[in-house]
Amino acid sequence: MQKRKNHLNRNFYDVTRNELEKLLINFNLKPYAAKQIFEWVYEKGVKDFDLMTNISLKSRAALKEYFVFPKLATKSVQTSKDGTIKMLLTLHDNHHVETVLMRYRYGNVVCVTTQVGCNMGCKFCASGLLKKQRDLTAGEMLQQVLSMNEYMASNSETKLTTHVVMMGIGEPFDNFSNIVRFINLINDPKSLAIGARHITVSTCGIVPKIREFADLKLQVKLAISLHAATDEKRNQIMPINSAYPLKDLMDAVKYYEKTTNKRITYEYIMLKDFNDSREDALALVKLIKGTMGFVNLIPYNSVDEHDFERSPNNRVQIFAKTLLERNVRATVRKEFGSDIDAACGQLRAKEEKADGE
Ligand code: SAH
Repeated sequence: MQKRKNHLNRNFYDVTRNELEKLLINFNLKPYAAKQIFEWVYEKGVKDFDLMTNISLKSRAALKEYFVFPKLATKSVQTSKDGTIKMLLTLHDNHHVETVLMRYRYGNVVCVTTQVGCNMGCKFCASGLLKKQRDLTAGEMLQQVLSMNEYMASNSETKLTTHVVMMGIGEPFDNFSNIVRFINLINDPKSLAIGARHITVSTCGIVPKIREFADLKLQVKLAISLHAATDEKRNQIMPINSAYPLKDLMDAVKYYEKTTNKRITYEYIMLKDFNDSREDALALVKLIKGTMGFVNLIPYNSVDEHDFERSPNNRVQIFAKTLLERNVRATVRKEFGSDIDAACGQLRAKEEKADGE
């Protein structure tokens, strides 16, 4: 295969096993070698073709010229009292991404960043303070999970990542093809073997992409950041709502449910005196009535640059009760890592700024 210039080398982690099988003919290898190479990389953590002793020397040399295992340097790691880990990783072009691991009873959940910065401009969120610099590739998302696993393994942990949520910085549906590739990659039993039902995509509501995603019929979970139950309120906090108002969003939700027969999670941040009254709860019941989804109420983590405050606990409880009494399933999201700025919504690319100064 034609020699590539170093900076044009293909990130090995971007390639699915299926694609590798097809590529291997160019390296004088049979398709089954893809399985062997994946075992070296994902089971043994090898990042050098020279060490893959069951591959011929000549093929190894050719693979080495074509692929690269880009470094994702660990800039910092913070560990919270509750076991939450936040990593700041440096990409090959010096952008930074944040990745968080949370420990639930049912498993270890890694929250992955999908873009450097975000263009959605939600008025309560810290991520959007840095506009989108670029999309992450699927391999770069996968490497976040790998880095977390490597870190845990280096601390003698044996139970590594079991679940992945795309709830870090970025809007997954603004980076559609890469997140779909990422899902396929980590779902492969020969790579990270994360079960589809253990993967969640969260979107602010890019309607055409919700439909496109439904048509793919992946078995992964979908969460929608709703945060307000009327257009009047949602327009104030989420600019995406002017492009895709609630009527269009709910039509897409119904299409998703019909096509996939899966329920959606509605994320609803509780913002004091903005969306946390009894009327707000009743409006929410009305909006999602007739859909199968359930509501995840999120305690707000205040962001210095924004004016919103978190709702007091008792108001969150009353809100949840109002929903439950009307047969709308609702849970309150558990909080993690608030002592290390890793709490939901607190991720931001602040290092970018610090480095530039
Ligand atoms: N762009 C995607 C995924 C990233 S945000 C989306 O909008 O869904 C993941 C979740 O965190 C979203 O529900 C988002 O609205 C929420 N979030 C953002 N800022 C927050 C904050 N300060 N406190 C709590 N949750 C926040």
